[in-house]
Amino acid sequence: MYIEVVVGLPIDKTFTYSVPKELEQDIEIGKRILVPFGRQQRGKPLRGYIVDILSNSISPAYKTKDILKILDPEPVLTSEMLKLTQWLATYYLCPWGEVIESALPPGVNLKPRKETPPPYQNIRHSSYPLKLTQEQTKSLEVITPYIKSHQFKVFLLHGITGSGKTEVYLQAISEGLKAGRGAIVLVPEIALTPQTVQRFKSRFGEIIAVLHSKLSRKERLFQWRRIHEGEAKIIIGARSAVFAPLKNLGLIVIDEEHETSYKQYDAAPRYQARDVAIMRAKFNNAVTILGSATPSLETFYNTSIDKSVYLNLSYRIDHKPLAQVEIVDMKEEYKMGNYGIFSHKLKQEIDDRLKRQEQVIIFLNRRGFATFIQCRDCGTTIKCPNCEITLTYHFQDKMLKCHYCQFQKTAPEVCPKCQGTQIKYSGTGTQKVENELQKLFPRARISRMDLDTTKKRGSHENILSSFQSQGDILVGTQMIAKGLDFPNITLVGVISADVGLNLPDFRASERIFALLTQVAGRAGRGQVPGLVIIQTYNPDNAAIQFAKTQDYHSFYSNEITFRKELNYPPFAHLANIIIKGKEEEHTIKLARTIGAHLRMINKDKTSLILGPAPCPLPKIKQEYRWQILLKGSPKSLQELLKSISTQISIPKDLKVSLDIDPVGLL
Ligand code: ADP
Ligand code: ZN
Repeated sequence: MYIEVVVGLPIDKTFTYSVPKELEQDIEIGKRILVPFGRQQRGKPLRGYIVDILSNSISPAYKTKDILKILDPEPVLTSEMLKLTQWLATYYLCPWGEVIESALPPGVNLKPRKETPPPYQNIRHSSYPLKLTQEQTKSLEVITPYIKSHQFKVFLLHGITGSGKTEVYLQAISEGLKAGRGAIVLVPEIALTPQTVQRFKSRFGEIIAVLHSKLSRKERLFQWRRIHEGEAKIIIGARSAVFAPLKNLGLIVIDEEHETSYKQYDAAPRYQARDVAIMRAKFNNAVTILGSATPSLETFYNTSIDKSVYLNLSYRIDHKPLAQVEIVDMKEEYKMGNYGIFSHKLKQEIDDRLKRQEQVIIFLNRRGFATFIQCRDCGTTIKCPNCEITLTYHFQDKMLKCHYCQFQKTAPEVCPKCQGTQIKYSGTGTQKVENELQKLFPRARISRMDLDTTKKRGSHENILSSFQSQGDILVGTQMIAKGLDFPNITLVGVISADVGLNLPDFRASERIFALLTQVAGRAGRGQVPGLVIIQTYNPDNAAIQFAKTQDYHSFYSNEITFRKELNYPPFAHLANIIIKGKEEEHTIKLARTIGAHLRMINKDKTSLILGPAPCPLPKIKQEYRWQILLKGSPKSLQELLKSISTQISIPKDLKVSLDIDPVGLL
């Protein structure tokens, strides 16, 4: 007997092995095995995955090696997962074995479970399906038949915040369960709050599995087994939950589908979970629901070319009005002599809310105290020695920290260059906002939520629950923009809408529009109408203006015109090649070699090749970074990228990473 095996190494091929007679009866596709690997007959034992069993009539023309051992009593990978991972390998140009390894939790083990599962605590079916609004009913009626009749379909559920999208997901899942089909619900990591999870648990009880990045290895494995064994039928999780080993999959929901966190950017395979979900639904004759108040341009565009079905929830439950949005021009404030962080208007409104005992959210997408410190005498700013990026001052521990690597050092009291003593703190971060607020409103109970305050497990939950029960003001980064549903929040202040506006990234306006709309959606969810104040130095910016009216359709038609003119997604696909190395010269040399090679292959100009050029962040963690950006069809891009790995030898001291459909170009 001969089998095809994939190994978990960066090698882009499968290997044929022979099976000793005594192991033949236990061979099954999807099981893991140990194989001898390497030049010698014995070789080093390596883990592999059985991806095919060759028919008896085929025998290879060369001498094969015997496999050593079968590791699993039953397959860890279904044929569906093999198909899906193979698709990923091809599309994202990542060796199949590596994709498989990243789709399985480390330490998978299917030996009979010894430990008994922990008892489930306080799970009750305490919530019952709500009586749907007309729009919700209509959406559900369109979706359900596809789930019941096993037909693949993609839906965009476009609904403003608070319009009842989640209730539609819940009832669609319920319909799926009735038909014997399970569901995967993807939410952005930061939205995996107890609030979201509780809503699902109280509807469906113990058949839920929750997968988030803070699970310990043991907990993750435990959840994986519950799903694999069919005990859990509904999975809620972040990006990688799209690989949950659920059988009888009927529905995949992607909430806040426009979120950039669905794209894995830091390690191969650099997959977009949204696209993987659509492929997985296709392989399962299942349904994908993409939900958002501000759909990504790609997703909305797909509804216009009938690749997916558009469903709309146009008003909030109970017809609660959207919050009113006001824009404050900070240039005018400055002219009037206000040099502080807060505009006159925002201060007044905060004061007003405190008096009325209503709650306030203050949003700023930048953590730390001041963005940078600068010497008033010579103008020196202090940069990270590894990343060439200005260090951020953190007030609590008086440290300068790099937000890209872990570098930190004590903030100097004298300028390291000219010994001047006039150190100026410029810019604003969440810590500084918190401090200033406390000075302005000494009696207010203020809490802060950002990366720095949520490192510990459970801190996220603690901050939110203490704010909910006894807080006045919550200061935070984009972590607080999503999912919070606190009826007593009546004011949202955006300290600066300008953070990120000038990044060299064609998606900058899309991101700002989505973020501002999202933050605005936190206000006025209870009985009192909400007010949002957006401070900016660019009051005429289109994205900010569209956010004021929360008018997605106008934003879309404005933005899609620009994308079309410049041939950006969704009109073309992009691929980004990043060349990294500690030696600047070597890095540049390889980048140029690759560039020249690509131009030679692309003689007929089916793709557009831009660069090589230094990345917008040209040095991170001691490594120089150059990039080549490609525009074209997925097929033409794949051909170009494939030719790099097959035709160019990459020196040991350099790294080349390929990113198909990149979300950020920094
Ligand atoms: P979204 O996911 O679009 O932000 P939600 O599903 O969270 O909206 O709904 C907002 C609020 O309205 C929630 O508190 C939810 O319980 C409630 N809600 C949703 N649908 C209904 C309905 N049909 N009848 C009454 N309340 C509803
Ligand atoms: Zn750094």
